[in-house]
Amino acid sequence: MSEPLLEIWNLTASYGRAQVLFGLTFGLNAGEVLALIGRNGAGKTTTLKAIMGLVPATAQKATFKGRSLARLPTYKIARLGLGYVPEDRRIFTDLTVEENLEAGRKAAGPGRSPWTPERLFRLFPNLAEMRGRRGNQMSGGEQQMLTIARTLMGNPDAILLDEPSEGIAPVVVQMMAEAIRAMKAEGVAVLLSEQNWAFAAGISDRTIVIERGEMRFQGSIDELMTNESLRAETLGI
Ligand code: ATP
Repeated sequence: MSEPLLEIWNLTASYGRAQVLFGLTFGLNAGEVLALIGRNGAGKTTTLKAIMGLVPATAQKATFKGRSLARLPTYKIARLGLGYVPEDRRIFTDLTVEENLEAGRKAAGPGRSPWTPERLFRLFPNLAEMRGRRGNQMSGGEQQMLTIARTLMGNPDAILLDEPSEGIAPVVVQMMAEAIRAMKAEGVAVLLSEQNWAFAAGISDRTIVIERGEMRFQGSIDELMTNESLRAETLGI
């Protein structure tokens, strides 16, 4: 098997003297959707931030496309082709949907066809309908979709999504699931953090369950669902 696109060995992270991640090891393969699930405070957000160099972290190995991420500033990690969509929405509220997308445009790497607003509108039909609308006239869920679409304009090979379904209306959650499936179909790998296991189950190829900063499970959602005690213990379901 070829090496994973993103490879993380023994990741730890701390806030001051409080350690919150205790040696996570996993890989994200090209074109797959991997869900990091766990309860509130389990360490999902910190894992994504640690990969992006946004919190102090250590790892035995952390590579993306074979390049070490150690000591790289966040903007350089992003430039390697790793997109990041944090929980809070990052759009320009006084620009339109189309202008926001243009603001995210970056050159595509060799051999990749670059994302354009038109191509993204096929993936996010609801954004197409509101292409002239300003960010401040959109719902939270729509802004979240726009943040993802804008990140794709940077032509990433993989994208880290922090709780994409959090606090958004059910109809937009459905659209989000479809957009994530479509991204995968376009060859973009996705690592998403989720508390909503049902949402994660519908879109992911594999799952990782973390609890108090430790990995408790790695495998398919079907395996997780048949392991009742683990499920109850780590997710309360
Ligand atoms: P949530 O669903 O609430 O985002 P999470 O699984 O993403 O949960 P994290 O946000 O990664 O969890 O938090 C992991 C642990 O780190 C929690 O105990 C949290 O209280 C702690 N923590 C998070 N951010 C900070 C911070 N800036 N300073 C100190 N402790 C923090």
